[in-house]
Amino acid sequence: MRVSEGRVTVTVPEQPEAGKGADVFFNPVQELNRDITVAALRAYRERTPRVSTYLDATAASGIRGVRAAANDWETTLCDIDDDATALCEQNLERNDLAASVRRSDANVLMHSEAFDVVDVDPFGTPIPFADAAVQGTKHLLCVTATDTAPLCGAHFESGVRSYGAVPRNTEFHAEMGMRVLLSAMVRTAARYDIAARPILSHATKHYARTYLEFDHGAKVANDCIDELGYVHHCQHCLWRDHDYGLIADPPEDCPVCEKHLQTAGPIWLGRTCEPEFVSAVSEQVSEEMGTADEAKELLATLGAEIDTPTHYDQHRLCKRWGRGAEAMDEFIEKLRDAGYAASRTHYGGTTFKTDADVVEIREATAD
Ligand code: SAM
Repeated sequence: MRVSEGRVTVTVPEQPEAGKGADVFFNPVQELNRDITVAALRAYRERTPRVSTYLDATAASGIRGVRAAANDWETTLCDIDDDATALCEQNLERNDLAASVRRSDANVLMHSEAFDVVDVDPFGTPIPFADAAVQGTKHLLCVTATDTAPLCGAHFESGVRSYGAVPRNTEFHAEMGMRVLLSAMVRTAARYDIAARPILSHATKHYARTYLEFDHGAKVANDCIDELGYVHHCQHCLWRDHDYGLIADPPEDCPVCEKHLQTAGPIWLGRTCEPEFVSAVSEQVSEEMGTADEAKELLATLGAEIDTPTHYDQHRLCKRWGRGAEAMDEFIEKLRDAGYAASRTHYGGTTFKTDADVVEIREATAD
């Protein structure tokens, strides 16, 4: 079947149920991910004018790399599968575009060649590609993870094994997953004296996606490690706190309800987006993108999110408090009127971030 996205039209095989068993994988639901990728590539080139090379490391049909090539990136498409690389060639030709196509294990390629921007969009976890991707990236590493159950602690042992961190299944699970992924990527880069800082990250439709900008040097890598730490969370009253450092220092019990606390980490506690970059990416979302409206809305929410390592869900809180939920705008206004910082989040329509703790939120939003 033919698929048009952005400025290109590609051929992809009909996909049996959820892409499983197809000759070459294609997921139409990832169009938003790809539209934002193209906008981020455009914005990144304005931010760092010397960049020109882009590697689509796990290309499948090549749709991502073909779109990068259509945006004048000197593109390499790599896949381990013969059918995939043959389709990449056809899809480049169909769009009258030139790019290098490699049938290779991406790890081998990324260990031997470096690219300004590397994109790793694999099945499930990106961790098997992480070391090579750090070696093969000069400036910006874009990573997708679709293994949300291990990342957010729903599949605990698998999360511990893959990410070398303790994930906990909290009510802010998508953010937990994002911060576990970021922690693993930051620690991987730090092994090579590289600081990997997220300048854009979003958790959307069962995947986490992040764009990590690299800076080289032991000192800056140490600064990144300093932004790792632990979140302590009470499943009962939903109180939580965090502390920086690689040695967890949890309070004995929840200071509000005295129940047992769960600790997750080391997770990334720093910013997951750079608001200036998010706004530059939004400016690069263009009309020909199929998800332009959705992308703009997502980026606007991301850009306005306040910088806290966890978020709350108003419905979950109100249920605990035995109180009816109210319109989000009014709820957030009440927090602001009480002097707290507060914003919606992209993690869900009833989610918010604030610097108030759970007791303060309850008081500030009571009728
Ligand atoms: N990026 C694509 C898109 O936007 O449509 C989807 C990629 S698909 C989820 C993952 C691809 O990774 C598959 O085509 C698979 O053949 C490829 N792959 C798996 N292991 C690989 C490896 N070690 N090196 C390179 N490609 C690999």
